[in-house]
Amino acid sequence: MKTPICEVCLNSDLLCSACKEKLDSGRLSDNEINILKFLFKLSSKIRTLSDAKIIKVINSDVVLIIAGRGDAARIVGKAGSVVKALAKEFNKPIRVVEEADNFKEFLKNLFSPVPVVGINTVYTPEGEVHKVRISQADRNRVHVSKDIFSEIITNMYDNKVELAFE
Ligand SMILES: [Zn+2]
Repeated sequence: MKTPICEVCLNSDLLCSACKEKLDSGRLSDNEINILKFLFKLSSKIRTLSDAKIIKVINSDVVLIIAGRGDAARIVGKAGSVVKALAKEFNKPIRVVEEADNFKEFLKNLFSPVPVVGINTVYTPEGEVHKVRISQADRNRVHVSKDIFSEIITNMYDNKVELAFE
């Protein structure tokens, strides 16, 4: 299993210096680590899960798991076995979203079935900023905060984005 923390740490109560640095700098949370460890434990029983790549886990009103390309089905599990176990353990709905070729494609996966109203590109001295517009009426159906949204898109695609409800 490929995750934001290394396999040694998935299997241990302590974090190595590289993984601890990610936690200390805020790129990882304790909660994300707990969810990753739970998945790692499951992967000893569910073989397909051990081949999966997990890019990020976001703990919000739902647990959002960003999967590597082609890995969503592995993380969902046969007949939803993995997500059902996760939902039971963490007492929240689970959503698995797959990475895509570019951030615009990824947005569709991330927000589905909520439509993106439009993307405006603003040119600033620091570079392009893409303003991703979503209807105010859909606000409660979007499971990431504005800050987390900007952070994950920057980390995954190196694009600057802002989420706007209108
Ligand atoms: Zn580690």
